[in-house]
Parts: sequence; C-alpha cells; structure tokens
Amino acid sequence: MTDLREGVLDTFAEVFGRPADGLWSAPGRVNLIGEHTDYNEGFVLPLAINRRTIAAVGVRDDTRARVGSSYADELVEIDLADLGPESLDGWAAYPLGIAWSLGRSGADLGAVPGFDILVDSAVPVGAGLSSSAALECAVALALSDIWQLGLSRPELAAVGQLAENVAVGAPTGIMDQSASLLGRRDSAVFLDCRSLDSEIVPLGFEAAGLELLVIDTGVSHSHATGGYAARRASCEAGARALGVSALRDLGVDDLTRAREVLDDETFRRVRHVITENQRVLDTVRTLREQGPTAIGDLLDASHRSMRDDFEISVPELDLAVETAQNYGAIGARMTGGGFGGSAIALVPSELVSRVRVAVDGAFAEHGYAQPDMFTVTAADGAVREQ
Ligand code: ADP
Ligand code: MG
Repeated sequence: MTDLREGVLDTFAEVFGRPADGLWSAPGRVNLIGEHTDYNEGFVLPLAINRRTIAAVGVRDDTRARVGSSYADELVEIDLADLGPESLDGWAAYPLGIAWSLGRSGADLGAVPGFDILVDSAVPVGAGLSSSAALECAVALALSDIWQLGLSRPELAAVGQLAENVAVGAPTGIMDQSASLLGRRDSAVFLDCRSLDSEIVPLGFEAAGLELLVIDTGVSHSHATGGYAARRASCEAGARALGVSALRDLGVDDLTRAREVLDDETFRRVRHVITENQRVLDTVRTLREQGPTAIGDLLDASHRSMRDDFEISVPELDLAVETAQNYGAIGARMTGGGFGGSAIALVPSELVSRVRVAVDGAFAEHGYAQPDMFTVTAADGAVREQ
C-alpha cells in the first residue's frame, strides 16, 4: 500500500506536471455469501478486502477532466459540460461516469472545478474482486470531498451503481459499491438490497485461526454479456409468474408452489435465489451465535446451488472448490457473478499451504492454467489517505 501510494503520487507529478492535492483509496471486495441475490432485492454478505485502488487527484482551475491509470496507456480528457453516458467508453467510463453520476446527485457540473486523476490498483481486474467498484468508490469519495458535496456512503454507493449501470452499461446491483464504501476491518457488511439497510457483522477469522484464501482461476468473465442478463431475466420471469415484485418476497416454504407453476429451468433459478437468501440470513446468525468455524456447510451449499441450480460455475471453479474442500478448507464456494473469476475457501491457517499446493496440482493435472492464489483479510472501506 505504501509503495502504491508513493508510486501514484510520483506518476501523477510526472504525468500532470504538478503535485496532487490529495489521495483517496477504496478496496475491492469478496462476497462471503449471497450470490445473484442483490438484484432480487435480497441479502448479501460481502467484505472489503486488503487490496485497494488508489486515486491521486488534483483540482484544476478550469472545467477540464483528465484521467489516467497504470492499467491503461492513454490519458482521457473531456470537458465537464460534455459528460454524458454517450460520450464515455472504455475504462475511463468508470471514473468519468462517476463525475457524471455525481451531477445527478447534487453536483452542479456547470460550477464545480475540473480535475486531474491518476489511478493505480492492487485489485486484480476481472477476477471477481470488483476492481470496478474499487475504482468507482475511490473516485466518488475523492470528487465528493473535493466538490464538498457531503454525500453519505450509501448515497455514494448509489452514485457508483448509476455510473456502472448507465455510463459503463453493466447491469449490476449495489453490493460491490456498498462493500467498498461501508466495509470494516475484520468484519463483513450485511446488506439488505431492498431497504439498503446495512449492518457490520464481525467475522473473527483471525481469532478462530482461519484464513480466507482467494483462488483466481484466470477464466475471464463479463457481466455485461449473455449469462448474467439471462439469469436476471429468469429471476424476473419467476417473480412475475409467482405474483411477487421480487424473489426476495418468497421463502423456502414457497418452493412447492414454485415447482408446480414454473418450468424446470426457471424453478431451479428461483430455488437458488430463495435458498441463497436464507443461507445469508443463516450465515449472519451462525457468525453471531457460533463464530466462523460453523459457517463452512453454508458456503459449500451455496456453491452447489450455483453449480447445479443457477448454473453459473465453470469446471475450473468447481475443481478449485472441490480440491480446497478435500484438502482442509472448512467451506468453499465460487464468488462473484460467475462464469469464471475466483473461488474462496475458508481454511485453518496451518492448512493454507497444503490447500494451495493441492489446487495447483489439480489444475496442472487437468491442463488448466495455473491459478493465482492469495489470502485476504477484511479491511476498512474507502478513505482519504492524505
Ligand atoms: P471486476 O470488477 O470483477 O474486476 P469488471 O469487468 O466489473 O471486473 O471491471 C473491470 C473493468 O474496470 C476493467 O476492464 C477496466 O475498464 C476497469 N478498471 C478496473 N480497475 C481499473 C484500474 N485500476 N484502472 C483503469 N480501469 C480499471
Ligand atoms: Mg465489477
């Protein structure tokens, strides 16, 4: 983190020819449990992780906005007056989309000063750890501070979601931004995606001798395309056929009726969402009453539901999960939107290297590319660093 901070300040000065006025950072996230429940107005339980995106920002005395990133070659420049969903594309649609979205939440884009932003990140892109929300939230907090908008963190999360939905064009829920803004050290964020109420739930992994291992399969996913949209459409069709505004309104008692009313595929999609919502509630209760060593079965059941009912896993994710389970993880599941990305495994500290070696071996045996593996801890949400 320290290296990233110094590096981005140096690069900012090189690129823009003057020092930055401030530095903001926001974390990526891992979703502990609650997958594809967010847009069904249900529950999720993500945690902000100790991998952050950092943004050095300088205020300008004109109305130009310039953004650069260690991840991209080009510097993108636009006038604040020209910001709009149609004028933005590529990676710059994330930070500039935030500026546009803030304009919908109280910023007077005709009166606020322009800015220069340089971004660096330790959140792997496209690994299911939400590098997109980390970028959005670092920039949202920075511009909200600089423009003195006084927006709350839930409001900033909504700003990030609007930017991603409209400026980027990815139909994602509010979970990622909420985790990145509301996360706390050693805790998860229990979020009700309907009311947007949130609670901090202590995880206690370290005290219980557990580590959270991320296994990035390297299989690339894209939320903007096919599978994600198809799952959303199935959920909407299921809710409509069952007479509710969102699947959140159904519980496990409704599954018998759902099986009678729905075709097999829609039924299985609906069953995933209903049981996954229940698993989130059960995980929160178990964490509070029994601690983290008791949540393993819920993680395992979540993976089975995504693999068999929601059908968003891929063979690499299944292999990572099974191998972790077989070599000592107390629970494991794919995390994120699916069709690739990462799995997580909750592993007793002394068994982490055994699990890593086993997963590496299993991937080699199957002829899959070597996965990237690292442990994460639950970290604080977005902050002004200096
Ligand atoms: P994920 O959020 O799971 O990492 P997404 O596809 O939602 O994957 O977001 C990844 C996209 O976000 C990248 O393709 C890029 O456009 C943008 N992005 C993320 N981090 C950065 C960064 N540090 N610099 C520039 N663009 C970034
Ligand atoms: Mg994303």
